[in-house]
Amino acid sequence: DANLYLQVRVARLGARYILLLAEDRTEAYRLDDVRRDFVANISHELKTPIGAVSLLAEALAIAADDPEQVRKFAKRLTKESERLTRITQEIIELSRLQAADALAKPELVSIDHVVSLAIDQNHVAADASAVQLVSGGDHGATVYGDEALLVVALHNLIANAIQYSPSTSRIGIGVSNTDGIVEIAVTDQGIGIPEEDLDRVFERFFRIDPARSRNTGGSGLGLSIVKHVAHNHGGDVRVWSQVGNGSTFTIRLPEATDAGARTGEEK
Ligand code: ADP
Repeated sequence: DANLYLQVRVARLGARYILLLAEDRTEAYRLDDVRRDFVANISHELKTPIGAVSLLAEALAIAADDPEQVRKFAKRLTKESERLTRITQEIIELSRLQAADALAKPELVSIDHVVSLAIDQNHVAADASAVQLVSGGDHGATVYGDEALLVVALHNLIANAIQYSPSTSRIGIGVSNTDGIVEIAVTDQGIGIPEEDLDRVFERFFRIDPARSRNTGGSGLGLSIVKHVAHNHGGDVRVWSQVGNGSTFTIRLPEATDAGARTGEEK
């Protein structure tokens, strides 16, 4: 196997015997690679906004006598530093999620609440591009997990849907609950994703073409965070998409079974 790393130790036992100790280090090497890639990607991602910040600071100093120019550069400086803040937050979030396979303190979470918090957080962006957020479906579904993380995940999906949709289009946020699986689906009528990229959109730092988006300030970490949140909750995330016809991202989570929030309601 080309990707198998064995660490071999040799010891001579007396005159006739040699002891060979082989240790499988494949996983350790793989994790090292992942870590190295992550750090390289982070450095690359941060270089652009940091470079922009220092150029803008120089430009500000040169333009000091021209109030119009000062305003323009200051505005761009604010934008770049906001971008730096967002990327840094996402990197911290992602490394925290990657460090833990499971959730520290799962609690009973109402999906209705998660949906309404995530919609609230996206209202300003939706209004700004006259995009309508429509939610519906099953009410009363609960899962065991971390509410704040689930809100982050759903927020990312809704923010992407807004980002990659034309203005005045509709975005649906639907909840269904079948056979013990709670599904939260975010459907947009946006630009869609080319088939060859569908497998890669959940990779860290993967962005299709920044020029496709109205706002090119993304980091390519949003969907990777969604994937990790879903996995840490014992679920997954799926995507359906067609170029020109829009996309549906679905987070699937195991329904909370023993706490009777839902069954109690139905009786
Ligand atoms: P970004 O910060 O670039 O949005 P994400 O990880 O959230 O990073 O998404 C990765 C890429 O997947 C995006 O750059 C975009 O090209 C594509 N993408 C994500 N969501 C959608 C969507 N709803 N419609 C079309 N393309 C999308």
